[in-house]
Amino acid sequence: MTKFIIVAGGVISGVGKGVAAASIGRILEEYGFSVTAIKIDPYINCDAGTMRPTEHGEVWVTDDGGETDQDLGNYERFLGVSIPKRNNITTGQVYKKVIDDERSGRYLGQTVQLIPHITDEIRDRIVEASSGFDIAIVEVGGTVGDYENIPFLFSIKNMENEIGKGNMCYMLVTYLPIPSHIDEMKTKPTQTSVKLLRENGIQPDFILCRGKNALDEPRKKKIEQYAQIVADHVISMPDVTGPGTVNSLYAIPLQLQGEGLGEKLLATLGLAKKRDATFTEWRGMMDGITAAAREVRVGMVGKYLDIGDYRLADSYISVNEALRHACAEHKARLRLEWINSKDLESDKFDARSLDQYDGIIVPGGFGSSGVEGKISAIRYCRENDKPFLGLCYGLQLSIVEFARNVCGLEGAHTTEIDPGAKNPVIDILPEQKGVIKKGGTMRLGAYPAVLKGGTVVHSLYGRDSVTERHRHRYEVNPEYHAVLQEHGMVFSGMSPDGRLVEFIELPGRRFFVATQAHPEFKSRFLSPAPLFDGFIGACLAADGAPARPGEAQAMARH
Ligand code: GLN
Repeated sequence: MTKFIIVAGGVISGVGKGVAAASIGRILEEYGFSVTAIKIDPYINCDAGTMRPTEHGEVWVTDDGGETDQDLGNYERFLGVSIPKRNNITTGQVYKKVIDDERSGRYLGQTVQLIPHITDEIRDRIVEASSGFDIAIVEVGGTVGDYENIPFLFSIKNMENEIGKGNMCYMLVTYLPIPSHIDEMKTKPTQTSVKLLRENGIQPDFILCRGKNALDEPRKKKIEQYAQIVADHVISMPDVTGPGTVNSLYAIPLQLQGEGLGEKLLATLGLAKKRDATFTEWRGMMDGITAAAREVRVGMVGKYLDIGDYRLADSYISVNEALRHACAEHKARLRLEWINSKDLESDKFDARSLDQYDGIIVPGGFGSSGVEGKISAIRYCRENDKPFLGLCYGLQLSIVEFARNVCGLEGAHTTEIDPGAKNPVIDILPEQKGVIKKGGTMRLGAYPAVLKGGTVVHSLYGRDSVTERHRHRYEVNPEYHAVLQEHGMVFSGMSPDGRLVEFIELPGRRFFVATQAHPEFKSRFLSPAPLFDGFIGACLAADGAPARPGEAQAMARH
């Protein structure tokens, strides 16, 4: 039978509940258990596909084509497994299903109500997503006390009654502020959160105390007494990023394990460990972070910069993390800088300023804002042999740049920006027009590509075919395949039917690679995405150091 760990948040959101949940999962995997993680989002959207990334963070894409909350990304990066879209449960999905069922007559004669119809639907979804796993972590979005959380907590409490308390464990992640005017860590908001959780009939088994600093003994005792929980179940979780820290989220599983959390959880759930938790591989990668000898300076040409740095970081979180994974593998320290693509369009901008970076990334994007700036950056990389990695829109704009400046195709563009382009090198293909309906659907989820032998992409993946995730509408127009290749562009990966360009590269360069896919969605701490690994290797090589040998073998794990 699956055991459940419910992770709820108190005090404020954004304190790292998702990473805490993912870290707990990682610890339990180290003990030999199969673990999955489920995110509950109490908003009414059916999924995150239509939300603004600058407000809600990046839209995460699953293998099965779901557009979900980015916490599923945290789970995958920490657990090293693929998480399907059904693991992101939203209020919208739940109500839609119940209302659709009601309309189709499933409940004929009944009054359809919040309890039991909505709460049963929530339970069914949690049970379905967790079936077959030893342990399921269920993260409840938002903070306790939110009105929107109530049906979910109610449903979870019902589940506890059905499966028995011994199979369910509750974890409250809180935040202990240190107001600057008193310079003292305050426990009161945590106490209030415990009270709010109890109002839902739930008594926490563990309290994870997030804060700038570690929890000291008097405060630990205070929380322990107030919450009436077993001694040692108040777990200190100080910041691991920022000045004076190891500056990596991947330190968290080890930090929590340092508090003995794994053994305490197993005891609470009545589980005997299947093996010792050694964290051998994990520690190996962490060493790559702590012992990083060289710095790699990457410029990322994005468009969300005018909204504020922290939001930007979130809207490209998977790219940032994929770069971190690759840097850990190369024992290099990442210095990631954001370049506003709109700034590159200004007359005053001198493309030579890009020379200060070891490599340039043009990530995914939509719409016209900053597009010419991105094209200038790509041109600079191509003409100056600067390591370049293009992701999705990054590939499309590399094609536009090459078509204009190498093939001499006047007015070459993507029809996303210029529907009447003279040379529509990027377009919606006729066969896509039927699939892609108005209102948001795209080519979404995992699609295979056949790789061409002898290419950089093939050697990085170390295999003949790969599957990467997609989220886009437009494609390289097949009518231009020939002219692009005649001018030296290599299509290093194609869809199995040979119609869609999935990977491109320019041969004889340090590194000039782009993909129609989003390989960042499959990068995990223990298995960095091959293209990112190759890109960072090339950036370091450009810096004078040789690229690490044996990259292809490392990639074979992917
Ligand atoms: N805007 C482009 C498209 O829709 C690229 C999308 C992306 O980068 N994810 O095809």
